[in-house]
Amino acid sequence: MSSVPDNAPQHCPGTQSEEAGKASACAGCPNQNICASGDASLPDPAIPLIQHRLANVKHKILILSGKGGVGKSTVTSLVGHALASKYPDANVGILDTDICGPSQPRVMGVRGEMVHNSGSGWSPVYVTDNLSLMSIGFLLGRPDDAVIWRGPKKNGMIKQFLTEVDWGELDYLLIDTPPGTSDEHISAVQYLRATGLTGALVVTTPQEVSLLDVRKELQFCEKLNVPVIGVIENMSLFVCPNCKTRSEIFPATTGGAAQMCIDLSVPMLGSLPLDPILARCCDDGRDFLAELPASPAVTALKDIVDKVVATVEKTTS
Ligand code: ADP
Repeated sequence: MSSVPDNAPQHCPGTQSEEAGKASACAGCPNQNICASGDASLPDPAIPLIQHRLANVKHKILILSGKGGVGKSTVTSLVGHALASKYPDANVGILDTDICGPSQPRVMGVRGEMVHNSGSGWSPVYVTDNLSLMSIGFLLGRPDDAVIWRGPKKNGMIKQFLTEVDWGELDYLLIDTPPGTSDEHISAVQYLRATGLTGALVVTTPQEVSLLDVRKELQFCEKLNVPVIGVIENMSLFVCPNCKTRSEIFPATTGGAAQMCIDLSVPMLGSLPLDPILARCCDDGRDFLAELPASPAVTALKDIVDKVVATVEKTTS
C-alpha cells in the first residue's frame, strides 16, 4: 500500500519516510503534524476546530466541478441569491475556497471590501441582509498572490481559512471549491467532509471534455462518501435574443449531463442556458435574479433550487 496520503503535497516523502512531516514539501500540508508525530492514525488537530466553526451551520453544500471555467462560481452565486431571496428568514453564506481564482467578491459585487478580524475570528462580508460571503480573495494581498504558491502553502491557507471564519448561525453554507483536479481541492473536501457535509452540487457543461472530468469528480465523491445532491448542466443552450434561434454552443455529443446522470445513477437537477446578460451581471457584480427575473435562466435556476431544497430537507428530516 502506498504511504502517500490522498491529499499529499506534490513532493510528499510518504508517511513511512524519516522525512515525514519534516521535509520542506511538508510545510503547510494538512497532515504535517500527524506525520511529524510518527503516528499516522492521529486525527488532524484542525478537524475539531473546523467542526466547531461550522457547528451552527444547518446545511453545508459543496459546489464542485471537474475543471475550471464551466460556471461553478457563477452557479454558486446564483444559488446563493436564489436561496436568500426565496427564504428571507434563512441565513445563507457563501464560502469561496477557490484559492487560485477566488471570483466571488467580484461576482457578488463586494470586491475591495475588508474582512474584520475580531476575537471570535474573521467576519464574513454581507452582500444582502441574509446573504454573506467569505472569500479567500479578501485575504490575499494581491489578487494574483496564490497563483504562484506551491501546494503546501495553498493547503495551509485553506486550513487556516476554514478554521478561522466566524459564520454564526446559518441555514445554508455553499462552498465554492477549487476545481476538481488540484491538490487543494482534495484537502478542502477532506476537511469539510469531517464536518458532516449535506452533499454536493456538481456543475458541468454539456461537452464531453467537461463530462470526462465530472465523472472522475463523481467517483471522488463516492470514494469519500460525499452524497451527490445532483448535477447542474450549465451553458446548455443559447437562445439568440434577436432571432430566437436556439444553438448548442457546447454540443452534447455524448448525450450531455442528462445521459451521464442516467449512466451513473445520480440526480440531474436541470440545465441553465448560456445568457450574455448573466455573464455581464457577474462581471459587474450585479444580481442577475433581480435584474432579469423573467428570463429563462432565472426560471431554470428557481426550479433547480427548489429541487436542492427538497433534497436537503429530506436528508436532514
Ligand atoms: P468556474 O468557477 O467553473 O471557473 P465561472 O463561474 O468563473 O467558472 O464562469 C466562467 C465564465 O463563464 C465567467 O465569465 C462567467 O460569467 C461565464 N458564465 C458562466 N455561466 C454562464 C451562463 N450560464 N451564461 C453566460 N455566461 C456564463
